[in-house]
Amino acid sequence: MSPMKNEAVADLVSNTLEELLDQVRGDRSGELADYIPQLAQVDPEGLALSVVSSTGRIYAVGDHDQHFTLQSASKPFVYALALSQRGPDVVHERVGYEPSGEPFNAISLDAEGRPANPMINAGAIVTSSLIEGATPDARFEAIRHCVSAFAGRELELDEAVYASETATGHRNRALANLALAAGTLDRTVIDATDVYFRQCSLKVTATDLAVMGATLSNNGVNPLTGVQVMTPEVVRRTLAIMLSCGMYNYSGYWMNDVGLPAKSGVGGGIVAVSPGKFGVGTYSPRLDPSGSSVRGVAALRLMSNQLGLHLLNHPSEAAASFNADDSSFDNLILRMRGELDFACVERIVHELSEHGDTIKSVHMDLGESTAVVPTARGMLKDLQEVLAHEDIPITIDDPRDFIETEPHLKAPEPHVADAHAPLPENQ
Ligand code: GLN
Repeated sequence: MSPMKNEAVADLVSNTLEELLDQVRGDRSGELADYIPQLAQVDPEGLALSVVSSTGRIYAVGDHDQHFTLQSASKPFVYALALSQRGPDVVHERVGYEPSGEPFNAISLDAEGRPANPMINAGAIVTSSLIEGATPDARFEAIRHCVSAFAGRELELDEAVYASETATGHRNRALANLALAAGTLDRTVIDATDVYFRQCSLKVTATDLAVMGATLSNNGVNPLTGVQVMTPEVVRRTLAIMLSCGMYNYSGYWMNDVGLPAKSGVGGGIVAVSPGKFGVGTYSPRLDPSGSSVRGVAALRLMSNQLGLHLLNHPSEAAASFNADDSSFDNLILRMRGELDFACVERIVHELSEHGDTIKSVHMDLGESTAVVPTARGMLKDLQEVLAHEDIPITIDDPRDFIETEPHLKAPEPHVADAHAPLPENQ
């Protein structure tokens, strides 16, 4: 394929995203957040949509290089850091798992003094206080370092927003006081909220959010840098809490209508994840009454419906698919795509056993695979052995060494597919 054609193919994706944005552009409903005065200063018209694949391809349309503050979209990433440092038992002694059905800033403490979940303010302040570090500066640096690793570049603090929230964040300090009184907070209220306000004031773009989401979608490996930011287990737990609690009192509706793990912030950003496939970042600062971006929610609803992304869309289909190029099954060529899971290998094994008599050779191409889950990896190794035993030659094209190396530790080569979507500065 000539480079000309390649570009045209890449543009197909960006064009689809542009069309999506066009469908929501005209919606001017909602209000800028003004309870943090600095947030009311932004241009209300900003609108962006970025998608980053688990293999590191970037598609970004609209105002994708406009900076805004992370706000509550910081919560899942700080939760992931707390899980990785303290483990789920320690974290969940202090904060629950359950959707609260209440607004993000609700006074939420159960009978044991735990906030309902780590995605609402009370729970996020407690989660943030669990981050290791002797001083608030050290704890914030640990958070900044971790969120930057998710984004694949050094993120900076928006000093003006931080100052604005520090000056007006009385309700968050009240939530921290209640957690302190209940014995759930080990830090002082000022220290705990200071770190929390700073994590909320980290500056990102829609593309940063999409890369952060893509890192979650890629089992914790940032697809641009290749850095393993979190373990697959922490990622699974983080995505679960995003799916059940990420959209506050709108979470149940979100689960029905969109069906993707997501987190919104009052800065206007939303990060969403299509596990094993891609991360999405949206930006549009007018908010609905629950504090989520109106046009961001609309864009993600459209994406979910039009691109068929709801997690429960096809419960009977394996996440990965394979094409057998040779229908006679003589010299079988299997091209694998996406996450190679148990169900997919099960299908291969089934086909091979059905056509075992006629097969003369097998070639397996993992070039488009994004991951091989541990069970599937073991099964493929076994399959190699069985076929060798039967004198059926099997060749495996495995450019990322998924089968030979420990799963999830290898990152694919970065590939910027959209020339119009340069990486954010200093990346
Ligand atoms: N910093 C904001 C607050 O605590 C974050 C809230 C949000 O984004 N929903 O009020």
